[in-house]
Amino acid sequence: MRFRFQLRMLHSLALLAGLSCFYAAKALSADPEVIVLGIAQDAGFPQAGCRRDCCALAWSDAEKRRFSSCLAIIDPDTKQRWLLDCTPDFRDQLRLLDELTPWTPAAHLDGIFLTHAHVGHYLGLAQLGREVIGARGVSVYAMPRMKFFLESNGPWDQLVELKQIEIVRLQAGTLQALNDRISITPFLVPHRDEYSETVGFEIVGPNRKVIYLPDIDKWKRWEVDINQVVQQADRAFLDGTFYDGAELPGRDMTEIPHPFIVESLQRLSPLADFDRNKVFFLHLNHTNPLLHEGSAQRQGILEKGFHVAEQGSSYKL
Ligand SMILES: [Zn+2]
Ligand SMILES: [Zn+2]
Ligand SMILES: [Zn+2]
Repeated sequence: MRFRFQLRMLHSLALLAGLSCFYAAKALSADPEVIVLGIAQDAGFPQAGCRRDCCALAWSDAEKRRFSSCLAIIDPDTKQRWLLDCTPDFRDQLRLLDELTPWTPAAHLDGIFLTHAHVGHYLGLAQLGREVIGARGVSVYAMPRMKFFLESNGPWDQLVELKQIEIVRLQAGTLQALNDRISITPFLVPHRDEYSETVGFEIVGPNRKVIYLPDIDKWKRWEVDINQVVQQADRAFLDGTFYDGAELPGRDMTEIPHPFIVESLQRLSPLADFDRNKVFFLHLNHTNPLLHEGSAQRQGILEKGFHVAEQGSSYKL
């Protein structure tokens, strides 16, 4: 009798232990996410020196300001976080990320992935140096020319010498595992490659695939079909720098080629509603009317089923 009672007790205990393990596992299992930390072109919004109408509201109302394009990848289970691009707005973007991920030690980053050597995409690395954070061995993932550029030019070479950053060489088309459930793969795109190659990134999580492509010259100069890229992803953050060719009076826009929004709408028009819903434009120049909530142009792209990326928004991987 006593023996049977003990057996029953053991059985209940085992059941309880099993149940609590199940709930503990459930509580721990939060999906990794991509967080949008910036949606503006390299210069941010408003842009230095701009006194025109495009920036007037953003100068007077800090709520309207937007940081340079940047994504974060976070994994709440492993308490890891990575940046895609390291912008001149790094200080504020790291603060925004800290607010959303209070579970990491201050200033901790598991890695930074760089798309290319234009000012909006890597200048933030300076904040890792002696004058600011004084980081220790932050992994910076860069393509071969980008790596060489950082290693052979000041002040970036000092970050390397002082081991504040450790540059990891990326290879186009080669997958880089972030942990056992997130991976990232760089892919080459045509761009004004004065100092480095230019890549976009494909991020794959346990359930979803995200594309980050902030800079490309023109869709037609790329041998890859952007429509297929969108179809094969769950979300695509794409270069939306300029709305159209009339945007920069007095500047030769062929010197700074990007797909105009009007061209992208044309190029993406064969996509079904389901696929259009995946497209989020970012890297918006201060002159781009998509930056303004009430603009007819913004309304127009929303009506066509596309989106403008929102700073601070997140997406489960
Ligand atoms: Zn850029
Ligand atoms: Zn402006
Ligand atoms: Zn660029």
